Amino acid sequence: MTIYNLGSINIDHVYRLQALPRAGETLHARSYTQGLGGKGANQSVAAARAGARVVHLGATGAGEGWVLDRLAAAGVETSAILRLADIATGHAIILVEAGGENSIILHGGANLALPADLPGRAGLGPGDILLIQNETNLQAEAAALARRAGARVIYSAAPFEIAALRAVLPHVSILAVNAIEARDTFAAFGEDLPVEALLITRGAEGAEFRDLRSGQVWHQPAFAVQAVDTTGAGDCFAGWFAAGLSRGEDPPTALRHAAAAAALQVTRRGAGDAMPGRAEVLDFLK
Ligand code: ADP
Repeated sequence: MTIYNLGSINIDHVYRLQALPRAGETLHARSYTQGLGGKGANQSVAAARAGARVVHLGATGAGEGWVLDRLAAAGVETSAILRLADIATGHAIILVEAGGENSIILHGGANLALPADLPGRAGLGPGDILLIQNETNLQAEAAALARRAGARVIYSAAPFEIAALRAVLPHVSILAVNAIEARDTFAAFGEDLPVEALLITRGAEGAEFRDLRSGQVWHQPAFAVQAVDTTGAGDCFAGWFAAGLSRGEDPPTALRHAAAAAALQVTRRGAGDAMPGRAEVLDFLK
């Protein structure tokens, strides 16, 4: 079973400062680091490190080849990632204050210029999984195509947008949301959602998987760790959970592995670069 991920690829530019600049102010950063980010790339790396076969569907600008190298080094198949001319690679300018508070500017760039025929080129089939998030164009088109092909669709409704969710919801098998997105989803669409299952993550309070057809609910507590950077925790969880399902794990097993992976991920700085490997996660669970 293959995981196809139609998802964003971003470069995270992280600047650490004493305090965030006010309007009109210019400040020196204390440090600068560059990393792999974007919800799509994060989830692809997480699922590939979990041991799944992952084909990423997406695009970057013409430069920044290291981004593709880094995805490939994590085990993600990158041959379906397009290099588009005359457009920037998606990126995030992330300002982090000494106290940990942050401000983020996101530029979608190539992530929002995916050509319409990209999902059709993927060759999705029965039993495969399509992952999508809300940082690219073509989510609803790809999801509809995947369901017609007999694949399951897992949608991370982030960044949360009611119109985007409304467009993909009829094609979604599993809706993955954090606590805030869950609240907003229920407020907009009610609790009786037209999906097979719900994956809700609640930060340090853990996660739950609700099978809406059988009514069964599985709870997974978070593992107690010293968190230093929770960026990408939800993506780590979603990628690992999808990888578990793709190898036929039952929900409680997939939840436990995903929670362990996310616990390790939050103990490290970075997003895509901080995803743990399978051996580390199994070792953590011993
Ligand atoms: P998002 O990043 O999408 O907001 P959450 O904050 O809900 O997602 O985190 C996703 C998962 O990551 C949680 O369900 C939990 O398993 C794990 N996690 C997040 N924060 C912590 C933490 N401080 N300690 C341990 N695990 C955490």
